[in-house]
Amino acid sequence: MSRLRPAVIVHYHEVGLKRGNRPLFLRHLARNLTRTTSDLGPVRLRQLSGRILLDLDDHPAPEKVRDRILRVFGVASAALAYRVPSTLEAMKAVVGRLVERRTFASFRISARRAFKTYPLTSVELNRQLGAFVLEKVAARVDLKEPELEIHVEVMPSETFVYVDPMTGPGGLPVGASGTVVALLSGGIDSPVAAWRMMKRGCRVVFVHFHSVPYLPATSQAKARALVERLTEWQYESRLLQVPFGEIQREVVLTVPPPARVIVYRRLMVRIAEALARERAALALATGESLGQVASQTLQNIARIDEAAGMPILRPLIGMDKLEITGEAQRLGTFEISIEPDADCCTLFVPAHPATRMSEDEVCAVEARLDVPRLVAQGRAGAVAETFEFPARAHAALTE
Ligand code: ATP
Ligand code: MG
Repeated sequence: MSRLRPAVIVHYHEVGLKRGNRPLFLRHLARNLTRTTSDLGPVRLRQLSGRILLDLDDHPAPEKVRDRILRVFGVASAALAYRVPSTLEAMKAVVGRLVERRTFASFRISARRAFKTYPLTSVELNRQLGAFVLEKVAARVDLKEPELEIHVEVMPSETFVYVDPMTGPGGLPVGASGTVVALLSGGIDSPVAAWRMMKRGCRVVFVHFHSVPYLPATSQAKARALVERLTEWQYESRLLQVPFGEIQREVVLTVPPPARVIVYRRLMVRIAEALARERAALALATGESLGQVASQTLQNIARIDEAAGMPILRPLIGMDKLEITGEAQRLGTFEISIEPDADCCTLFVPAHPATRMSEDEVCAVEARLDVPRLVAQGRAGAVAETFEFPARAHAALTE
């Protein structure tokens, strides 16, 4: 019996993509598929009739390739398939091998022709292959709710046969939408927000504000662990660790307690923006959700926005804590986020932050600070760390 030739067949959603954006989408998708499977073995990638095919002849771990691909944004579904010549005999041979390995009470064949000049229609293919399966196993045909669905995709030069296609994450390929800077605390929300930006095709640069040496370095370690996890979705990340304790000390000297949180946030946003401009990022992103905590009122959000000269994106703004937590658990960031730590937000933070300050009030308290100097100090203190997934043999670890 001939050798099975494995391949992964990737489907993507083209709906919602303007025609002109399609080549860009596909270029980023192809690059990301190649990158995320680069350490697993030889992969040959082809684009064919609205699908991407990864030929895995001689590949040691086709299933691992499929699993990696299920974490590439832009992928609607991925299936481990076998490719055969487009003859009925060859299709039967591989269908036969697929069904003899499993037990199932009902099945259906779902044939599709990516080119319509193939001599058999999909209905005829369904019938012929269905009859073949019925001869081999004691199962019935069920078109509505089959236990096993056997997909047959006929392309011009060959046919792909597979079962169990798996749903991908959807979204847009990372890189297709440009770069944003995400403000990453050690909390539950901001890693989810960063992931949501990646899902919309953004490359995310992470900025974490820490209070070492006033507080232990736990928050830095958490930020690292979070970025490491999230890098599985964008393959390469920069984390900028910004010392913020000294800046907070200066704030405490002149700013009355209720106004401090908002002043800290505005300083964070200004520093993050300066770092974003250095890296040609076009927006910031935070994990804020409206009304979740005292500092996240509409008034405070307005005050924070007024400090920024670029858009601040808040992908979680309309989500409940429960929904955010569920997403964090699915992503595997939750366990990292709930590790106890002393984030800079716990340093010099008042018991009752103001929830409604006017722009004039905030500007009045900030007038006592040398804001440009503090921003320059934060920016100059930023230390960049690089993360990769999968690790490259010759990682360039410098900026
Ligand atoms: P999170 O769960 O993300 O910490 P939160 O509900 O605790 O959010 P806040 O503490 O008000 O809310 O922070 C709001 C947002 O400000 C965070 O989602 C994050 O984007 C940003 N942020 C807060 N602290 C830091 C920090 N130390 N470094 C970087 N960004 C921060
Ligand atoms: Mg927090």
